[in-house]
Amino acid sequence: MAKGFSLTMYPWLYLAKFSDRKWSGKYIEQPHKSPEEEASMNDEAASKLQTERNYIPGLPLVNYTTQYGMGCFEGLKAFPQPDGSLKIFRPDENGKRFKMSMEGLYMPGFPVDMFVESVKTVIKKNEQIGFAPKYEKEWEKDDFLSGTAVYIRPFSYTEPGIGVNISSSPWVVTIATPVGAYFAPGNSGATTTKRVRATRYGTGCLKTDSNYVISALAKHEAMQEGYMEAVFLDALENKYLEEGSSSNIFCYLKNGSLVTPDLGDTILPGVTRKTVLKIASDFGIKTEERKISIDEAMSDSVEMFVSGTAAGITFLDSINHNGKKVVFNNGKMGDVAKKLLLKLKGIQYGKEEDKYGWMFKV
Ligand SMILES: *Cc1c(COP(=O)(O)O)cnc(C)c1O
Repeated sequence: MAKGFSLTMYPWLYLAKFSDRKWSGKYIEQPHKSPEEEASMNDEAASKLQTERNYIPGLPLVNYTTQYGMGCFEGLKAFPQPDGSLKIFRPDENGKRFKMSMEGLYMPGFPVDMFVESVKTVIKKNEQIGFAPKYEKEWEKDDFLSGTAVYIRPFSYTEPGIGVNISSSPWVVTIATPVGAYFAPGNSGATTTKRVRATRYGTGCLKTDSNYVISALAKHEAMQEGYMEAVFLDALENKYLEEGSSSNIFCYLKNGSLVTPDLGDTILPGVTRKTVLKIASDFGIKTEERKISIDEAMSDSVEMFVSGTAAGITFLDSINHNGKKVVFNNGKMGDVAKKLLLKLKGIQYGKEEDKYGWMFKV
């Protein structure tokens, strides 16, 4: 069913609009059949249904989002639990970031409580008509590598307009789709890219649509060259690690310290990044948020990995920079990445104690 990161939208979605200085939202049931009938449809019929579902009458074709990339979004997941329920990982954090991204684009911020409520309700409404993955004991055998989840994508969309402008009465749309693993297993190599994702005073720290243009180009180029992931260096000196193409980056150094670049204008404050820092310090691992140069990363790392909702924790078996390549841990996942990954997945899939209340019931 859920193959990688493909779009197979669930029928229920959420639509909110800002007008008369307030937000109001509604849930919409898009065309669908039963989950069983849909699973047995041929490709043509399935794609026709998906096209119908991926359409909301009344949303303008020409607007500041489609013309100028004036928009932002979130990505979060709901995980099937052994007791048959679904739980969402840290939606309050995504809600806060979404509000920050919208306000960073001078849009009216979407309230955090409405964000959390609508995300829960979209999941619940889809679950009630049978659109939800069920927990499978099998996943425990490969540490949830084969586990599926529901990916939730809230995003902004602006009012009609053709001149370059900011949005004063945007919509927020929230859709859900099942997902499997993000990175195909087998290739875990990374390379630095010469492209620049984010600059000082730019929008790199907001989850904006526009940030993703350069990321998509860089990732495509890296993949053309046989790598899994592109790693960005800073814009000013082309020297310090910044991020993966849509993920934060970590180096576990031989002195026992886990380092990730400190937040600023150019780093996206990842919820997974924040979670990894917490879990690592709970394990007694020293963590540092600071600048780390590509030279230091290459000479002193015993492990490197990237983190994100989509990527989870994905280890990098090697990194290539200016024709020089360093392989970590003989190309296998290191102990630290493994330990953090098991803990994170364990909490998300309800096998480990959720002592910080990160998992929200649907
Ligand atoms: C979304 C995103 C991440 C990961 O953030 P999470 O909250 O962990 O999913 C990292 N980097 C960029 C550029 C992103 O857009």
